[in-house]
Amino acid sequence: MERRSQQIELNPNNKQATLMSKHAGYARVAYNFALSSFKVGLDNDEWRTYVDIKREFNAVKYDKFHWCSQLSQNASKNAIHNLGDAVSRWKKGQNSFPTYKKRSDRISYQADNGTGTVEVHKNRIKLPKIGWVRMREELRFKGTISKVVVSKCNNRWFVSILIDCDISNFNHQPPLFDEKHPIGIDVGINTLATCSNGDTYDNPRPLKRYERKLARANRCVSRKIKGSQNWQKAKAVLSGVHYRIACIREDAHHQATIRIVRKASAIGIETLNISGLLKNRKLAKALSDSALSRFLTMLKYKADRRGIPITEADQFFASSKTCSSCGHKKVDLTLSNRQYHCSKCGLHIDRDLNAALNLCPV
Ligand SMILES: [Zn+2]
Repeated sequence: MERRSQQIELNPNNKQATLMSKHAGYARVAYNFALSSFKVGLDNDEWRTYVDIKREFNAVKYDKFHWCSQLSQNASKNAIHNLGDAVSRWKKGQNSFPTYKKRSDRISYQADNGTGTVEVHKNRIKLPKIGWVRMREELRFKGTISKVVVSKCNNRWFVSILIDCDISNFNHQPPLFDEKHPIGIDVGINTLATCSNGDTYDNPRPLKRYERKLARANRCVSRKIKGSQNWQKAKAVLSGVHYRIACIREDAHHQATIRIVRKASAIGIETLNISGLLKNRKLAKALSDSALSRFLTMLKYKADRRGIPITEADQFFASSKTCSSCGHKKVDLTLSNRQYHCSKCGLHIDRDLNAALNLCPV
């Protein structure tokens, strides 16, 4: 058994979208109720568990929040569970004390907690008290649904589904490439990834492409009166641009990493010293735009799932300065040198390809 999750955009009609907002509001109210009850408990030297709080909430909910009878009680129940988790994490010292949720916080609620109240059929999902909502794509994994979270981001509704699935469903797919090779990968700003087998994957650098749009949207926000209706609208436009940028980046990373792991029998990468590199102000913007660490994380988990060993070179291994043919070390190589020319053996090669060859596991 393995857990997989997939986030899918929903296509709700107006009525359904309103209902989802109501559920998210109900979850927020229940969470805040539980938090204040827990705080009252603390003041009276009494440790209230989420079971106590749930009992207390259930006793008063129809008087206090009469509108909740039309909504799924899963929303409030799971919100109180979540507070319980947050409190126990706080007790273990893993995070700070939970705070009240505000209207302006992330809009979301947990529709199901593995109780089987949610059904998925092709590209539709049945949510309690809401009914069948259209999804933009089908669920990729087969198995038991163990958690369903509905959330709103940039005026779009999403559902995030966690599934306990049988690994045999996806690990025995026929290989796409008969021959698999060890691959060394050099990541960079100009080219996202250069592989030792000669493949290169471009970096879309969406921030650069959307720089002007982003600047204009930012200006729009700053010219409005904070908190006003027009300010809200301008904020929505701005977050839309940010969302678009994030999507382009994410997509490029997914496409490159999946292609690499399908061809590789073993993978060698370098250890990035991102925080050190970010100190270089000229590079900082381009670096955070390319989100290289996210790329490497993605590559690692995808390789891991397929059982492909991944080796990380030592942080101080000079992958770009060493000659991939004779091992000679070129000390005076600057970032602007796009070609590598070895003075010892006469090798003339692309700089990134040279680094990738050095990182290739044997
Ligand atoms: Zn050489």
